[in-house]
Amino acid sequence: MRYISTRGAAPALDFEGVLLAGLASDSGLYVPESWPAFDAAVQRGWRDLDYPSLGARVMAPFVAGALDPDEFAAMIAETCARFDHPDVAPLVDLGDGVHLMELFHGPTLAFKDYALQLVGRLFDHVLAKRGQRITIVGATSGDTGSAAIAACRDRAMLDIFMLHPKGRVSDVQRRQMTTVDAPNVYNIAVDGNFDDCQDLVKAMFADERLRSDLRLSAVNSINWARVLAQTVYYFWAGLKLGAPDNRVSFAVPTGNFGNVYAGYVAKQAGLPVDQLIVGSNRNDILTRFLDSARMEIRSVEPSLSPSMDIQVSSNFERLLFDLYGRDGAAVAKIMQDFRKTGLMVVEPDRWQAALDLFAGARFDDEETLAVIREVHAATGMLIDPHTAIGIAAGRARRRDRSVPLVALATAHPAKFPDAVEKATGLVPPQPPALAALAGKPEKCAELPNDVAAVSDYVRSHAAAGVAA
Ligand SMILES: *Cc1c(COP(=O)(O)O)cnc(C)c1O
Repeated sequence: MRYISTRGAAPALDFEGVLLAGLASDSGLYVPESWPAFDAAVQRGWRDLDYPSLGARVMAPFVAGALDPDEFAAMIAETCARFDHPDVAPLVDLGDGVHLMELFHGPTLAFKDYALQLVGRLFDHVLAKRGQRITIVGATSGDTGSAAIAACRDRAMLDIFMLHPKGRVSDVQRRQMTTVDAPNVYNIAVDGNFDDCQDLVKAMFADERLRSDLRLSAVNSINWARVLAQTVYYFWAGLKLGAPDNRVSFAVPTGNFGNVYAGYVAKQAGLPVDQLIVGSNRNDILTRFLDSARMEIRSVEPSLSPSMDIQVSSNFERLLFDLYGRDGAAVAKIMQDFRKTGLMVVEPDRWQAALDLFAGARFDDEETLAVIREVHAATGMLIDPHTAIGIAAGRARRRDRSVPLVALATAHPAKFPDAVEKATGLVPPQPPALAALAGKPEKCAELPNDVAAVSDYVRSHAAAGVAA
């Protein structure tokens, strides 16, 4: 499988190339040159497979030519073994044709573990083959940092430096990062806010010497390998609910458009997906686009679902590429104008094409709390605020009630205990992995909001720099 850039001006790469590159050299995102097509007979043959075996089948054509199938299958099996439920992504019936897919049984209790646990192993594998070390640098306001650290800890070929705004991530989120005791993990609490952290990371990547000396790399949500790993659970749920012989719809709480785009990939590869319904909080750039064909940047407001407090949904560019008939030059022009003006207006027929598959709805904090309360009253289950928004969007925008709807539960309720308690009066019980964090010592450097200070720290601790 070869991958091309959404902006049409970067070299085509194989899977290994796009894994390491992240962003394409023309600032576009990599997508498969063509979609594999799993026909109905093939999919029927998958119905009884366990999750890791299904994962190997779904992902095989996407990594063809770059990875040895047996070695890749072993990485998938190791990844799945890190999840504490035998189904890996279990489905729970909520009634009325709605099914909750619990994506929070991984090491950090959010769906990002599916992608990052695999990507950590892929990086290590590919780098060992090349005899190369890298230094991963990132900024986090919560979930991504802990999932990336859990995925990268103790890997031989990389170090990870994760910046977070000091005093501005939740207790649980900080402890999930700082209690990790591994020689290649470095937490940095920056005296500043999340934007400061992101600016520091950008400045480090812009420093050519630092970048090449330490072979700086990222594991952010535009990495194709992350999208691909998430595609598996769409097939998993679909097959359990009657695909390929029946249609299935999904409701997805959305920030960067990575998770729901993985559902789009599943559809392109042959899963009969009827609708992809996105939910957003008050940061509703995507749902406003679906209402109006206008994508317009506004400032980010904090909400009860912080992992969706996002200004621009970076993976949307991948969908745009298909809406514009895979015309890279057109996408490059649109994205450049969007950067400049903060506004993108998609032509009516192309917008309409998106609406055949996508729908969306937004919910503010009060509505989010009401959904948590209702679901608890009706089912006895506690759900997290992100999951609540997905369920609510699905219920509001479902067009055919005979089609089963899978709502993605993207985080465990115990990761967001304050919102759950506010809604229901109940504190969600902590899974053992979270409870164990309380007594553990924390390891974290505290640094000023200063590029030189942070760069020096990274340079003096990264093993890639020592070897260089
Ligand atoms: C990251 C995250 C999201 C948003 O996912 P995207 O792929 O960015 O759309 C939703 N819910 C939770 C709990 C998350 O951590």
